[in-house]
Amino acid sequence: MQTKNILDEDQLPKSWYNIIPDFPTPLDPPLHPKTGKPVVPEDLTPIFPMDLIGQEVSTQHQIPIPDEVRDLLTLWRPTPLYRAHRLEKYLKTPAKIYYKWEGVSPAGSHKPNTAIPQAYYNMKAGITRLATETGAGQWGSALAFATCLFKMKCTVYMVKSSYAQKPYRKSMMQAWGAECFPSPTPQTRSGQAVLARDPGTTGSLGIAISEAVEDAATHSDTNYALGSVLNHVCLHQTVIGQEAKAQLESLDLYPDVVIGCVGGGSNFAGISFPFAGEKMKGRHMDTDILAVEPTACPTLTKGIYTYDYGDVAGLTPLLKMFTLGHDFTPPSIHAGGLRYHGDSPLVSRLVHDGVARAVAYYQTEVFRAMETFSRTEGFLVAPETGHAVKAAIDVAEECRKTGEAKTILFNCSGHGDFDMSAYDAYYDGKLVDYEYPTELIRDSLTRIPKTS
Ligand SMILES: *Cc1c(COP(=O)(O)O)cnc(C)c1O
Repeated sequence: MQTKNILDEDQLPKSWYNIIPDFPTPLDPPLHPKTGKPVVPEDLTPIFPMDLIGQEVSTQHQIPIPDEVRDLLTLWRPTPLYRAHRLEKYLKTPAKIYYKWEGVSPAGSHKPNTAIPQAYYNMKAGITRLATETGAGQWGSALAFATCLFKMKCTVYMVKSSYAQKPYRKSMMQAWGAECFPSPTPQTRSGQAVLARDPGTTGSLGIAISEAVEDAATHSDTNYALGSVLNHVCLHQTVIGQEAKAQLESLDLYPDVVIGCVGGGSNFAGISFPFAGEKMKGRHMDTDILAVEPTACPTLTKGIYTYDYGDVAGLTPLLKMFTLGHDFTPPSIHAGGLRYHGDSPLVSRLVHDGVARAVAYYQTEVFRAMETFSRTEGFLVAPETGHAVKAAIDVAEECRKTGEAKTILFNCSGHGDFDMSAYDAYYDGKLVDYEYPTELIRDSLTRIPKTS
């Protein structure tokens, strides 16, 4: 009875899988925030290098991974695929549960999968500093690690509530040589504007993005790096799903259910795109692809599919996506990485087209699932990851009722070693469930820009 399936280093994929050409009709293009016209590459060159802009719109099916990037990824990749024998037994389910363990990277999540290529292409373009935002601190750590590998500087705007909840994420960024500020800061115009309106704000990803974009746009040696949402980020994460597909194939299996949690959509994209692509090509049509989000920030389950800004200040292009409104500030739940008002346009389109479907959970039921997982499988996962764990357990319990022996694959996006204050809150009985504040959202949705 095998517990973990491990690939050799030379089985690390040689290219990224690009899902864009597999959509039956073209995607709606990003629009310029001022003119409302489709974005052209020149609009993006102040903040992104040309190689990444090219990947953002590429219609090539496979995009080769540069050797230097592959070499660095082998520090921890390919990652193991675990069979959750003990969890299955505990649940008394006939289902086979597999999880892809991304917590083995130096920063502890899937995020270095894209941080490394992003830092690499910027370094090649002569950029010496990257500015970014971070929610729970995972992306800031990943980019600090990646920029350190290429001897670049890194400035991180960290959402204020997480800065207070997870001080050691900041320490980790410092260990890799990055500087980290609680956002909103008084250093940027965007930050100043928010502080003037709401001095006690706990911050949000949307605000921190405005600050980082402004920093990059106003410094010629500096570019911006985004840890999720954009097409090139989702692209870089497809090493996860490609490896998992090969690992399951080596066991003569194909998943009936594929699950990932969704903040901006990148780890979900990583695990699911290779399987979603099969579905769009008319193969394995009954694969159930499940995107999991918190009820406190229910973008896919309660948002609307329309053009909106990626940030609060309205500096980013308008993206066609599910959104709760760009100035929606979600409640300060412990899965900080899932507190984003929008979602990847690619993931949004999959959900809109019915190739994938979305579910939302309360944080207390998520923590109960995390406890079940740590007491059977051992790993203490991040609260974000806990959403995927909860969905996998629900599907497995459904299988116990129906007697179906489904193969369930979920992405275990990161460890929770820096989330002990959240575990404390759970064990102290202090976790509160938030229902989506309907009036606030409705209000926020009225400020979505009009596009024709
Ligand atoms: C950032 C993060 C997420 C959410 O971001 P996505 O882009 O939706 O993947 C989920 N899990 C972990 C561990 C994270 O660090």
